Amino acid sequence: MTEVGNRAVFGSDRPIGVAVLGMGNVGTEVVRILREHADDLRSRVGAPLVLRGVAVRRLDVDRGIPADLLTTDAEALVTRADVDLVVEVMGGIDPARGLIGAALSAGKSVVTANKALLADYTGELAAAAERSRADLYFEAAVAGAIPVVRPLIQSLSGDRVNRVVGIVNGTTNFILSAMDETGADYEVTLKEATRLGYAEADPTADVEGYDAAAKAAILASLAFHTRVTAADVYREGISNITAEDLETAAAVGCTVKLLAICERVPAGPGEPAPADGGKERISVRVYPALIPRKHPLSAVNGAFNAVVVEAENAGRLMFYGQGAGGAPTASAVMGDLVMAARNKFYGGRAPGESVYAELPIAPIGDTPTRYHVNLQVADRTGVLQAVAGEFAKHGVSISTVRQEGSDEGARLVVVTHHAEESALADTVAALAELESVTSVTSVLRLEGTEE
Ligand code: NAP
Repeated sequence: MTEVGNRAVFGSDRPIGVAVLGMGNVGTEVVRILREHADDLRSRVGAPLVLRGVAVRRLDVDRGIPADLLTTDAEALVTRADVDLVVEVMGGIDPARGLIGAALSAGKSVVTANKALLADYTGELAAAAERSRADLYFEAAVAGAIPVVRPLIQSLSGDRVNRVVGIVNGTTNFILSAMDETGADYEVTLKEATRLGYAEADPTADVEGYDAAAKAAILASLAFHTRVTAADVYREGISNITAEDLETAAAVGCTVKLLAICERVPAGPGEPAPADGGKERISVRVYPALIPRKHPLSAVNGAFNAVVVEAENAGRLMFYGQGAGGAPTASAVMGDLVMAARNKFYGGRAPGESVYAELPIAPIGDTPTRYHVNLQVADRTGVLQAVAGEFAKHGVSISTVRQEGSDEGARLVVVTHHAEESALADTVAALAELESVTSVTSVLRLEGTEE
């Protein structure tokens, strides 16, 4: 094997060996595609891709492949001399982290779908890949089948990305869409999602926003050339969303979605503006928010995902499709595998990690958003004035107020202009103290409006 520019560096009869770690939802489909489409893959790569082994935990399960391909010794598999590429689809942090590290250190290129691992350890893994001049690909880690990682790394590498907003968790989108459609409450809808296989037995990672936060960290790192980890992401889940929230959202022409938002925001308080030499910051956050029904993300229903990227020159781009599932996720894994195999065959490498910008992360407290505040109040004169007074006192400007009668008095729905989280939090605390306010029923952010 020699380095010869754009010509094959492997002989075309020299197979490229592939090891797969994990044969669950995704791994089973990766193995199927490798075997069913071997001839096409050979033509696309220039050399045959040969499955050398599959690491699993249990050997006593019939997986429809020759038993001698299966092993529980993943460590030995990833460093075998006849393995050139490793696909990690076992999930979790350990042992996946060590196995990927060992594979990269041994010069094997790695394709992984493991967002939880990448959200915290991309730096470590990218450094290992850099040291041994191997590739680390992870298209499947964000939004399943949807190509969004490669567009950010490659297609938009000559542009400046300002904002990435996505629905990146199918389970929560399924639940919120169903609540919107049926008027049912969260618990009932979660049960139905579990029955249909859209939610796991322990749905915490999805419904509390951890999965979306891991993906937001990956997207923000790529979009802003800055290392962002899951701990940098402000996160709220959907378990407090009620049928009433969806109903009041509908009344103002909105629906509720769990959004992952990554955007550039101005320099911090007291800092000069970016135009005057101050350093701009980035905000990375995951929370349920109202979005207008005319916003393109509001039409993303069921378990589908979508990501909207706004770039200085490209303008707004939208990527939409299946964000999970064995075959859709395997499609993204296979795309990466073909790229990594071609790099092995012809020489060359994928772009490495780009974190040169090192932008600071803005705390959620000074990230301005619009808010939708739902209050239960006494039905008497002067209440509206008292409520509006608290907003004014804390510098939160009101956009609209709706009032309706209810069994226990009146309901006020206040929509604000952009306000900082900390100012809104102070306003809400003051409202709760007002004698005429029975309760602050909900506070939700409003995203996707023009102002
Ligand atoms: P899964 O169905 O739970 O499968 C995990 C597989 O890994 C199983 O075959 C398991 O072996 C094997 N495994 C786990 N720990 C192991 C260990 N210590 N040693 C050897 N084998 C081990 O998982 P999945 O749904 O396919 O997800 C895999 C990865 O893809 C995760 O990182 C996930 O976040 C990511 N992903 C999944 C989806 C999706 O829709 N499922 C979408 C995007 C990304 P046994 O079969 O013997 O138990």
